[in-house]
Amino acid sequence: MNIQMVDLKTQYSHIQAEIDEAVLSVIRSTAFINGPKVKDFKAAFSTYLDAKHVIPCANGTDALQIALMALELQPGDEVIVPAFTYVATAEVIALLRLRPIMVDVDPHTFNLTADILEAAITPRTKAVVPVHLFGQSCDMEAIMQVANKHGIWVVEDNAQAIGADYTLADGSVQKTGTLGHIGCTSFYPSKNLGAYGDGGALYTNDDSLGPKCAMMANHGQVKRYYHDAIGVNSRLDAMQAAILEIKLRHLDQYAAARQKAAAYYDEHLGSVSALQVPVRQANSSHVFHQYTLLVKNGKRDELAAHLKAAGVPSMIYYPVPLYKQNAYKAFIPADFQDLPITEALCESVISLPMHTELDETALAFICQTVKAFFA
Ligand SMILES: *Cc1c(COP(=O)(O)O)cnc(C)c1O
Repeated sequence: MNIQMVDLKTQYSHIQAEIDEAVLSVIRSTAFINGPKVKDFKAAFSTYLDAKHVIPCANGTDALQIALMALELQPGDEVIVPAFTYVATAEVIALLRLRPIMVDVDPHTFNLTADILEAAITPRTKAVVPVHLFGQSCDMEAIMQVANKHGIWVVEDNAQAIGADYTLADGSVQKTGTLGHIGCTSFYPSKNLGAYGDGGALYTNDDSLGPKCAMMANHGQVKRYYHDAIGVNSRLDAMQAAILEIKLRHLDQYAAARQKAAAYYDEHLGSVSALQVPVRQANSSHVFHQYTLLVKNGKRDELAAHLKAAGVPSMIYYPVPLYKQNAYKAFIPADFQDLPITEALCESVISLPMHTELDETALAFICQTVKAFFA
């Protein structure tokens, strides 16, 4: 059996005619930069998210960087970030000479919580970047309450949870990334809304931040050749926009396929006592960018080797806490205490194959292989 971590080829085969036509039409138009395809995708994405301002850019890392630039933070300002995340979240903070303050996460959902955030706030804190890890939202209403109380900005790293819904206490539902001041996402090919190359976007409902983000992504220009700020050059190219506009129409159906695979895993692995299957965050749907198990008996690496030998791919997201990465040592205060949950997660998480094309035969084989290890 040929089981893959991500299967973009089969997914493409279902939408091939539409995609091929869209790509060819961009080539024929020669409108490679900006132009109608980028405008159309922007409008469609804005409607999907119910976000007033969408700023497409070159990748998710740029989106995070541009968001922090638009907030006009000053060198040395503290930005709180979970230590259990992809490096990009902290990298942009360090690049802008801001100070990443790395904090722990919830042991069940693996997400930042309002309590952890509040405990880390100092008079120098200017912003927080909650990460909606593996496909479900942090408890954004609680996080926004803390952020508003202390007057700090909230930039959501929504690279992994695009399309997830967050339900507020009043019953209203919003897309993840639209609850904070700015939302950032990535269209890296394996993300839930993946391009056929790099891409990213920022979005906001704030009428002053929207134009500022657009300006920062475009060399700090408001008017062509008039520069009000030091910006960057970060664009989504038209071919990717054309592909994304098509894939956006399928995004909810893709989420449903992932949720179906996750439900199968839950049903068949939930009874293995050495495993913790994904714990759902209250008030959020889960779009399963990853299906991540926690191996409770210390045998995570042995399980990975067992799966590999049987032809089942798996991945460790993430093996090393950010504060233990060589590049970040200079940012860690001398009295920094290792974060116990992050430490434990780095040693015990494992992600199983998760994509839109998993069928029951593959799922059954994966589950049997996992269960055989614990039998
Ligand atoms: C993928 C990802 C990013 C970065 O996206 P790129 O498009 O690869 O730059 C940032 N944060 C998280 C949590 C991600 O998963």
